[in-house]
Amino acid sequence: MAGILALDVGGTKIAVGLVDAGGALTYSTARPTRADQGTEAVWSVVAELIDEALERAGGRVDAVGIGSAGPIDLTAGTVSPINIAGWRGFALRDRVAAALPGVPVRLAGDGVCMALGEHRHGAGRGTRSLLGMVVSTGVGGGLILDGAPIHGRTGNAGHVGHVIVDPDGRPCRCGGRGCVETVASGPAMVRWALANGWTPEASKADAQLLAAAAEAGDELALQAFRRGTDALAVMIASVAAVCDLDLVVIGGGVARSGALLFDPLRAALAERAGLDFLAGLQVVPAELGGEAGLVGAAVLATLR
Ligand SMILES: [Zn+2]
Repeated sequence: MAGILALDVGGTKIAVGLVDAGGALTYSTARPTRADQGTEAVWSVVAELIDEALERAGGRVDAVGIGSAGPIDLTAGTVSPINIAGWRGFALRDRVAAALPGVPVRLAGDGVCMALGEHRHGAGRGTRSLLGMVVSTGVGGGLILDGAPIHGRTGNAGHVGHVIVDPDGRPCRCGGRGCVETVASGPAMVRWALANGWTPEASKADAQLLAAAAEAGDELALQAFRRGTDALAVMIASVAAVCDLDLVVIGGGVARSGALLFDPLRAALAERAGLDFLAGLQVVPAELGGEAGLVGAAVLATLR
């Protein structure tokens, strides 16, 4: 068996990997997306990464799995990532298939791939139904229910960043208002802290600096995290009640804050998730880190 080629397409970087039959990532590399340089410039990044991986694989792979930032359209095999302006209805699945004639190609949302990776090879091993989430510059996610990935009608199911936690809240980039992403993403927590008088020590305030301030006991920074984690808890309690989840796995930059995120989140969830069947719901950090998308894309490629 030659192995699986996995692609993880995001707004800031595009990663490629080779995954063996046991799910181990034997090779991976990534390049900046060049999202501001037009349709074909972004494609050339993908094409070069495929060529390099193929050379590593000895010129042959058995299958390809692609996880892409959304929105995507699984019926058409196209992607329109919010942060890649030049890709609107871009025929990613067909372009990759044309570059690798005769090799089956599967596409899914990056949230679904992250969830698949954690479910098969990471923090979700052995669970039946999980929500995989990424909390960083945005809030993304994917669902595994009864052991199977949930794509939905167009491939965008599990997009939990746009669960509304405050009907009268801030406008969201999706066109709605008060989505959890407008409260709990890294930039949203930083924006709230700055608006409420937080004065960071460095000139460029970001979520990492906010986390450091919170860890040092800065009351405003701590409040910003509590506000964010409470919004996440509201969303998680809602999604868990709808989907009857075992587990929530959280990755991404903000999740690397560790106890700063998980302690208040678990406390808030204990208050919010009152249904008996949610009593055993666990919330844990992701295990695969930045590799979950590639590992999950490879799982996608081999699903029956
Ligand atoms: Zn939204």
